[in-house]
Amino acid sequence: MSSELRRLPSVDRVISEGSIRQLAGSFPHDLLVNVIRQHLEEERLAISAGHPCPSVSQIAESVSAKVQVLTSPSLRPVINATGIVLHTNLGRAPLSKESVAAMNTVAGGYSNLEFDIGTGSRGSRHTHIEPVLCQLTGAEAALVVNNNASAVLLGLSTLAKRKEVIVSRGQAVEIGGSFRIPDVMRQSGAKLIEVGTTNCTYIADYEGAITPRTAALMRVHSSNFQVTGFTHSVTLGELVELGQQYDLPVLDDLGSGCFLDTTAFGLGAEPLVQQSVTEGAGMVFFSGDKLVGGPQAGLIVGQKRFFDKLSRNPLARAARIDKIRLAGISATLIHYLKDEATEKVPVWRMLSMPIDEIERRAETWAKALNGMGRVIEGEGMVGGGSLPGSTLPTRLVAVGGQGRRKGRSTAQAISKKLRNQPVPVIGRISEDTLLLDPRSVLPEDDHIVIEALKTIVAAG
Ligand SMILES: *Cc1c(COP(=O)(O)O)cnc(C)c1O
Repeated sequence: MSSELRRLPSVDRVISEGSIRQLAGSFPHDLLVNVIRQHLEEERLAISAGHPCPSVSQIAESVSAKVQVLTSPSLRPVINATGIVLHTNLGRAPLSKESVAAMNTVAGGYSNLEFDIGTGSRGSRHTHIEPVLCQLTGAEAALVVNNNASAVLLGLSTLAKRKEVIVSRGQAVEIGGSFRIPDVMRQSGAKLIEVGTTNCTYIADYEGAITPRTAALMRVHSSNFQVTGFTHSVTLGELVELGQQYDLPVLDDLGSGCFLDTTAFGLGAEPLVQQSVTEGAGMVFFSGDKLVGGPQAGLIVGQKRFFDKLSRNPLARAARIDKIRLAGISATLIHYLKDEATEKVPVWRMLSMPIDEIERRAETWAKALNGMGRVIEGEGMVGGGSLPGSTLPTRLVAVGGQGRRKGRSTAQAISKKLRNQPVPVIGRISEDTLLLDPRSVLPEDDHIVIEALKTIVAAG
């Protein structure tokens, strides 16, 4: 054994260090011993790799830091100044005050989740949300599960297990985060029949692929990419008509799902859920936390004849939604019923924010930077697999860049300092410039950004 290794202290020796003894009052002895053991093992490996042995007090410091990290919640709020309103890595949709309040109301106690207060007997969790979704979309039936990926899996497994589902080759897509239509199809037990070509699929392609084993025709929203140039795709209406001729349901994976006309906000057109229902899709699948603007959930609406089988599928239980998010998604949907979504749902507040207001806020942010930042024109994105290729004009606070030699390191350094604030502020770096977009920050959080900017300016 090397002399350095022999210098490594014992667990007991580390425990008797002052900084660890201080922790002993707040944390169980066994936890401290475990963390010390694990840390000493890491040190042993480091020493074997040629590093010197740290002092006992250094080791105690490291252990103490590890215990603090381990016992503080790791998931915490950040400010999304990327301009990407639905940023999957930053938790997608922020929730309305009413949704948060509704979640709080049921979180700490018991609720009538599966209890019929009128009769005193067992109820179903779906009764809390089905009427709202049906009213909102015109559908005959609705079901809510864990997320849209599980909603699609559940739908396919219920209708098409050991059967075939026809999808356009241009729609056999990957959404990211390992959601690929061919893989989901395989997992559900359905056989994917791809028709057409990457850019062009015609109704005759679908019709030519129908066999006695066909269970459904499916449309998938391309979500995160666009095919431009010489293209042709079949409308949902055409698919439904073909489905009626052959008595086949049409499944519609809308991805984001949307209740409001996005073109009214200067965005491209995103298909509406109510439109899919009207046009006769058997089942429409969409996310709760994309353009709907609620908590993570998978929403299914459609024709009643499919939903009994859907809710009896064991996968429905495996993918069921919990009471807290059920309360949150209900409250979010109620905003749409009351026609107040653009004022209350943060995603829509952000998307509908007037450019003058964004500019005014960007000026205040830039002012806090005391000459280090400037306001420029730019483009924001919706994100979350909605409106591919569609951008919104915005104003950005730009730091660094401008072709200066030091631009890159300035942008990187400021970006890092902003991430290290008590509430991390996350921007995006483009061409060696750090860009901060007020669109994806709610005005009531501006003070957090301004405080962070002032802090890094003061620190130099
Ligand atoms: C985002 C998306 C999904 C997955 O939805 P999650 O809610 O993230 O599970 C499935 N299909 C499409 C087309 C999507 O855009």
